Amino acid sequence: MPINRKDLADAGSPEALVKRILKAEPNLPVPVPIQELCARLGILRIEELDTDGFEGGLVTDAKRSEGTILAKRGGEPRRRFTIAHELGHFLMAHHVPDQPGRFLCKSSDLLRLTAKVGDERQLREVEANRFATLVLMPPHLLREAMAAFREPDLQHVLALARDFAVGKEAAARAYVQYHPERIAIVVAGNGRVQRCYRSLSFPTIVCGVGSPVPTRSRYHSSSHRPNTASDIAPCSPDLWIDVRRDLRAPGLSEQVYLQQNGFAMILLRLEPVPEESAEERRLEEGWRHRFHSGRR
Ligand SMILES: [Zn+2]
Repeated sequence: MPINRKDLADAGSPEALVKRILKAEPNLPVPVPIQELCARLGILRIEELDTDGFEGGLVTDAKRSEGTILAKRGGEPRRRFTIAHELGHFLMAHHVPDQPGRFLCKSSDLLRLTAKVGDERQLREVEANRFATLVLMPPHLLREAMAAFREPDLQHVLALARDFAVGKEAAARAYVQYHPERIAIVVAGNGRVQRCYRSLSFPTIVCGVGSPVPTRSRYHSSSHRPNTASDIAPCSPDLWIDVRRDLRAPGLSEQVYLQQNGFAMILLRLEPVPEESAEERRLEEGWRHRFHSGRR
């Protein structure tokens, strides 16, 4: 691995840093050897963190001459994400820790994707997560892997998680972002919506975070086997999205993957509207408009 800190000179954002890393390491293998990368970039040690309530940490100085990453013991994918997140704090010199020389990050920090305007602490966590996601799932390698997938399917999310050695949720976020179709993945836990990830063109999900998973969702079906993705089957679209009464409802399907810890991923897929019916709808709307405006 030829990379060193000089290759990253002047790169301040997660995107710029990962771009430089990929330039210096064009043949980066999958799964990305994150510990080796840390060692090349100034991290002397990776130690176990056993401070209650925290998932990861970083001990370093303001100049970032060197650092020690602390990561809680746990599954390898989660640990890899924590290490990559802390490497992000280390490489972004504008990240200022709460206590001098020591970053401590909670599991909620490692899930944070958006920050309140003006909240520097939240912003630095969002940036560290963006760095971790990009470095563990480099966009060109992710696109390459995604090219083999056609119809949306949670099996692909599991394959990405396995191949890139990342958590299922990190893989789900990337999958939704890179898949060309209108899809969303809802993470449910204890019967409630915990988090929702949707592609840019997927409509807003009406069940907010914290609300119960709709009773008519396939999530509640008793036929699921843990750690096996269900079939993909149509569901009533108004369970998840707002359907205007005067328009024909779009087709929506659900697929459920139940994990053993009470968590589940629910894939939602909005069927593409066939060309013919889109044309029909335009005609219908045209007639309605003329009727309402009195021009007949
Ligand atoms: Zn952090």
